[in-house]
Amino acid sequence: MQVFKLRKKGVKCGFPRFKSIERMKSLHYPQYEAGFWLDKKLKVTPFGEITIKKHREIKGEIKTLTLKRESSGKWFAIFCVEKEEPILRENRGKAVGIDLGLKTFATLSNGMEIDNPRHFKRYEERLAFIQRKFSFHKKRTKNYKKAKIRVAKLNEKVSDCRRDFLHKISTELVNIYSFVALEKLASKEMAEENYGKSINDAGWSMFANMLAYKAEGAGCRVVFVNPENTSKMCSRCGNIRDDLTLWDRTYKCPTCGLSTDRDLNSAVNILTKATPGQGGSNACNSFHKERDVALATSVKQEAHTYL
Ligand SMILES: [Zn+2]
Repeated sequence: MQVFKLRKKGVKCGFPRFKSIERMKSLHYPQYEAGFWLDKKLKVTPFGEITIKKHREIKGEIKTLTLKRESSGKWFAIFCVEKEEPILRENRGKAVGIDLGLKTFATLSNGMEIDNPRHFKRYEERLAFIQRKFSFHKKRTKNYKKAKIRVAKLNEKVSDCRRDFLHKISTELVNIYSFVALEKLASKEMAEENYGKSINDAGWSMFANMLAYKAEGAGCRVVFVNPENTSKMCSRCGNIRDDLTLWDRTYKCPTCGLSTDRDLNSAVNILTKATPGQGGSNACNSFHKERDVALATSVKQEAHTYL
């Protein structure tokens, strides 16, 4: 119905597609012991007993179950559990600003760089090859189905590798640092506009989500700042260079003479913005104020001495 309403208003949109069984992605069971039971095997109505491979022991009280099918043909049983919050641990780490980029995955305000694994690049040629082969098959034949699964499996592999990388990096960051500042990215718009694959590849928004939810348990605080001028501004004197292009890899300030890596300059700016009193943002509450400003200054000095 929605579609017809939208069309009347003059919004361009397609008609709903027929949803075949092949496009079914998941099944949701909202209540434990009503529709599904977990013992050694998983018992689900109306399918009966299913043998499952438990990837880890389930801790806590099981609430819901989602059966999910990936397009590669693999099935997953996802359990949602409720458990008591672990005691928050105190993190005595420093504050850090992170600039996410394409050349390197991330540059930290202390000068550290995290390389982009570019999984997609590695698999891209292979994917293009099997995707082209797939396009030659006649639809709904045996070989078409086989090729389709081959493509889906490779895509799954790429996204698994990416997720694994992001998990490792985000866990490490929230354990090392007590305060992480990032840009609030309009990653979807950016990806559509000009960067295309590379930005999606880096999985920025997935990374931001991981950081945010892991931070709490690790005693770390994650703050997102407005990305305006973070790359154009000089991190030492605040001068704004409007003539900076995407191809300028070094930031040279005509006013104070600072010459530094472009991403590092942004990372320092992001940290300054997230901490009040310097960048003017009120991202921190007063409790953290003094401490964070102190940390920001020390990190800032560090960043410059690193060069
Ligand atoms: Zn300057």
